Formats: sequence, structure tokens, C-alpha cells
Amino acid sequence: MLAIVPKHVLDPDAGELRADTAILVEVGRIKSVVSTSSVPADIAIIELPGQTVLPGLIDCHTHLVGDVEGGRGYASLVTRSGAQEVLVGVKHASEMLRAGFTTVRDVGTFRAFADVALREAINAKWVEGPRMICAGAYLSRPGGGGDITGLAIDVDQILPRELRFGIGAGPDRLRALVSEILSRGATMIKVIATGAVLTSGTNPGAPEFTEEELRAIVEEATAAGVFVAAHAHGAEGIKRAVRAGVRSVEHGSLMDDEAIAMLADTGTWLVADLYDGDYIAEEGPRLGYDEETLRKSQETTEAQRQGFEKCVAAGVRLAFGTDAGVYPHKDAARQFAYLTRHGLSPAEAIRAATVHAAEMIGWQGEVGTLAQGARADLIGVKGNPLEDVSLLESVAWVMKGGVALGPEGGTITA
Ligand SMILES: [Zn+2]
Repeated sequence: MLAIVPKHVLDPDAGELRADTAILVEVGRIKSVVSTSSVPADIAIIELPGQTVLPGLIDCHTHLVGDVEGGRGYASLVTRSGAQEVLVGVKHASEMLRAGFTTVRDVGTFRAFADVALREAINAKWVEGPRMICAGAYLSRPGGGGDITGLAIDVDQILPRELRFGIGAGPDRLRALVSEILSRGATMIKVIATGAVLTSGTNPGAPEFTEEELRAIVEEATAAGVFVAAHAHGAEGIKRAVRAGVRSVEHGSLMDDEAIAMLADTGTWLVADLYDGDYIAEEGPRLGYDEETLRKSQETTEAQRQGFEKCVAAGVRLAFGTDAGVYPHKDAARQFAYLTRHGLSPAEAIRAATVHAAEMIGWQGEVGTLAQGARADLIGVKGNPLEDVSLLESVAWVMKGGVALGPEGGTITA
């Protein structure tokens, strides 16, 4: 057994700091949260003076595999092998964990199942990284937001299947693809329901699947016991996805009042990446993003923030998700300050990335909480993040499953 004794413990459920409080950890899980005076003698103690300890953060929208920072559109994916894509994913996984994110819902890779390989390497402790829920591949219509567009027509016809694994249309074909994706190790389904900002030639406002197609995907996934996340910017695509019964709408940039009401009424989760538009505007020209991408990013960024504020007011369920991968993984927590700028209190923003995120992914009680029996996934930050949520951008201490990452990469095992 091990005791963690920080200056304060932040219980996200209560949204308040507790002094004179210790967390007892045993076999990788939280045994109890106790007063410091009742810490048993002769057990190992990790003292974290000046730090606030809270549950490890959960990012519900990441892309750990691959590198889109090049900014030259997805056609550049043919210049890198699957091995290169997953190895850069190893770097991203480490950065994500050390930034305080002990769980991610990784919502897609263009190299099918590279994310599953990364998850298995993390679980086998070959490499360090967060717990991962993996999408395996994008379900997208041919030429849609999850396809590789912009290739020469003769090259386009000879792409390896792993670069187009989930591309298809029609309810029957999509059902078969869901089953093929899940049988290869994915633990969620990601469907591209509208065009995308970063996929050239696609329109974020335009729906790309019919409601019937989306319903077939959700039915097949539900029968297998997994959730569906729908990438959807435009209002019509959002409404079709909500009516089809998806678990979450990703982005939600161009929603209208009817879409907001539908999200609120059905309890469909919204995962809105509020920060990355600023990153693309600032860094995009240097990174070589073309005019189409910069324009689409601009058209979706402020609109998304306005829609998000309305969603907060309407009581839409919100889970934290950044689209890390579009911007550096180590900076994922930059989004917290944007959430508080657009309607959430710091406590609510932290709940979106802990208890609420855990509920959305179906891991409630397991992660994102200090409850007894939960995984001992914990982070420490200097100061009080309820006063300044941007403190979460510089996490000082990380523990995953009872194993602390030391300052020089060494570990202390509980
Ligand atoms: Zn994304």
C-alpha cells in the first residue's frame, strides 16, 4: 500500500479542495481517501508539497497515431508507412500521459488499426501512454471527410486497403464494416457524418451519410456493445446523427437551435474542440495549410464557440475532447481555459474531463474519480486549478494505475 499526501485533494464531484487529506493506493487502485492523521504507519508515502492532486484527465477526442502537423492535406499520408505512423504515435502517447491525460478516447487513424497496436503496446507496458479506447478506422463515404482525397486519379485506385478500411456507403455495407472494424480490435466506432475541415474537397456543413445509414451503423455497434461517435459540423448532419442514436457528436461547429434542443432532449453528448481553431489560424500558414483548410477552420471556429455557449445554457451533456493531433499533444490542456471562457466554471471544465468524460465513454467508477476501487490514475498540479484552470497546462506529477512517473522518467511502484 502507498499513501499520496499532497497539499490539497480535489474531488471533481464535489468541486472543492480538501486539506489534510491523503489518498491510499493498493494494487493499482484507490483504496480510500482519508485524513492525513489516519494514514497507516510504515507504508510508502509520496509527498507532494504545494500540489493539488485530482483524478487523471480524460481526453475524449485525440489522434495519437500519425502526424497531421505537416499541414499538406491527407494526400501526404502516402509518404509515410504504417510503421512510421505508429512510431510517432508512441511519442504522442508519452506526451499525452505526461501532460496529465491518463485516458483517451482515440477517435481515428488513417492507418487502420495502428491505434489498436499502440493500445496493446501500452497495455503490455512496452511503451508508456494513456489508457486508450480505439476507433480502428474511420467510417466514411468514398470521397468524404474520412477518406484520403486529393490524390492523382491513378494513384487513388491503388491505395492499400488499410488506408481506406472503413470507406463505404449503404446500410448493408456499413453494417459489415462495423463488424470488420470491431473484430480487429476497435472498442468504439467513429463515423464521419459531415465533411471535414482538414479533408480537402469536403464541406463541413454538408451531411455525408443518410439517417438510414447512420442508424444501421449505430444498430450494429450497439449490438456489439460499443458506442458510436459522430464527427458532425453541420446542423443537418448533427440532427441525423442524434436521431440515429449516436453516443456523442464531435465538433458540432455549425449547429442551429433545433440541433441544440435535440442534443439536450436526448442526452447525446457533445465533444467540442474549442481551442484548435486558434492553433490552426496562428500556426497553419507556417505549417503549410492551404487556403481551403484555413478558410474552413475560420468558418467553424467562432461559430462553434457560440454554439457551445448555447449548449451550456441548454444543459447539453459535455465531455472534454481536444482533437489533439491537430495541435501538439503535450498542449492538450490548453482547451481548459477556452471552456471557462465560453460558459463553464473551472469545476465544470474539470468535471467534463473527469467524471463526465468517464460516464460518456462508459468507464464511470473506473477512471475520472477518487471513488474507492477506481484506477489509481492521479495527477498533481502546483496551485489551485479551481482558481486558475490553466494550471492544468503544466502538470507536475502523474500516476497511472498506481505507478508514478518520476521527474527523470523513473518510476515508483505502489
Ligand atoms: Zn478529430
